[in-house]
Amino acid sequence: MYPSDYEAKKTIIEVGKRMYDKGFVAANDGNISCKVGPSALWTTPTGVSKGFMTPDILVKMDLDGKILLGKHKPSSEVKMHIRVYQENPDILAVTHAHPPVATSFAIAGINLDRAILPEAVVNLGSVPIAHYATPGSTEVPNSIAPYCKEYNAVLLANHGALTWGKDLIEAYYRLESLEYYATVLMYTGKIIGQANELSCSQIDELVEIRQKLGITAGGIPPCNIEATNLKDVVTSENIQKDMIQQITDKVTKQILDILQGDALCK
Ligand SMILES: [Zn+2]
Repeated sequence: MYPSDYEAKKTIIEVGKRMYDKGFVAANDGNISCKVGPSALWTTPTGVSKGFMTPDILVKMDLDGKILLGKHKPSSEVKMHIRVYQENPDILAVTHAHPPVATSFAIAGINLDRAILPEAVVNLGSVPIAHYATPGSTEVPNSIAPYCKEYNAVLLANHGALTWGKDLIEAYYRLESLEYYATVLMYTGKIIGQANELSCSQIDELVEIRQKLGITAGGIPPCNIEATNLKDVVTSENIQKDMIQQITDKVTKQILDILQGDALCK
């Protein structure tokens, strides 16, 4: 259920510090919020580093955006948090940050839905990219609205990341998972240059686990029928042999297809 005012403020400060220490936010970037009742939340003020916050600077608001407590002005991006709560009442906390790798994917226009890590499929799910909107504008909440029920996180095109959860720690861990997932995708996709994606039946099993854990959102990523990760890889020699075999099979099939085509033409 809802945390107390004291607990919510304490966790916001702790999460802000971790976000800053991990390099998910630069300077005064990012914002955090946590619901403490059906129409009440605590959030971070504008123009403050999330790494150095104290409880007295936090702002209490209602879901209409009215300030209930606090001397500071809330972030203009709190509109996007409020929209998440309006779209999905099961969500009790939201984090927004600009983690560099995930943000680079948001900039490249590459969504995160490749099934490469079981943990990412289970706890985070696929992460779509919401179209670009000027930070702080009313178009930002509109852009993320379609994703608040089906997903656990969304990338904001050319801006950053937004994650949510049933409590603030879950929302924050999803931010960590998101950046980790994006980092591994970057290494395998752009630096390492290859990745074995999970097969459809492997994903089915993970989705089943996810449902058993009570996680009802996250989407289902596209998948391959055939699993390509079922062999032990002990030496890199095996990978080369495997690649040569695959190429030989492909060429043989192409030659056979051509020969069969020729036979049909006669
Ligand atoms: Zn931002």
